[in-house]
Amino acid sequence: MIKVYKSDKAPEKLAEAGYTCDEVKQAILNDQKDKCYLCERKVTTDYQVEHIVSRTNNKEKVNEWENLFLACNYCNDRKKHYYDDIPLPNQLEFENVISQTINLKTQKADFRISKINPQLAKLKELLDKLFNGKGICRNLMENRFWNDFMSVYRNFLRRVAAYKIDPTEENKQLVIEELSIEQSALGFKYAFLNKDAELWSEFQDYCKWNK
Ligand SMILES: [Zn+2]
Repeated sequence: MIKVYKSDKAPEKLAEAGYTCDEVKQAILNDQKDKCYLCERKVTTDYQVEHIVSRTNNKEKVNEWENLFLACNYCNDRKKHYYDDIPLPNQLEFENVISQTINLKTQKADFRISKINPQLAKLKELLDKLFNGKGICRNLMENRFWNDFMSVYRNFLRRVAAYKIDPTEENKQLVIEELSIEQSALGFKYAFLNKDAELWSEFQDYCKWNK
């Protein structure tokens, strides 16, 4: 997860036609480069306009631009109205408050928050649920999500490994391609590079965190 970019100005149609109109959806897709703000996977047809403060709990914020974000169906269905108090994704420098790593041995995502804060604790709980499942083992849908996410992440790891073995300009470019703001799983990719001093000095300029 990384900070999400959001245009300051709401689309003109929002006031008259509401959040379900195509102009609003397109604006959110553009802002977020077609990525779910929670899992950072690219969406095609399976996406929803997500209300941070849910429609169930607060009808007044249903068409409030600042409350609308793009999420995939999987994440939105799990967030529902249980996580209304998470921090706004366009206002938080995630890299400074949540460490995000993939443990290849346990096949789990590990989220750690750096300060005690109820909003961050809630976000960590949600991310845990999305990536690691609700129970002890992932169910079918959770497993399919994990495999989908890991196919992207493993491809990144392969490119990094190839660069480490053979640091040619071509291999470097293949890693850089993985880091542009349109790509998936940037929070985990940036955090992975950040843990290795050599890799970080080589690639930190390409880790934008939406700044
Ligand atoms: Zn998602």
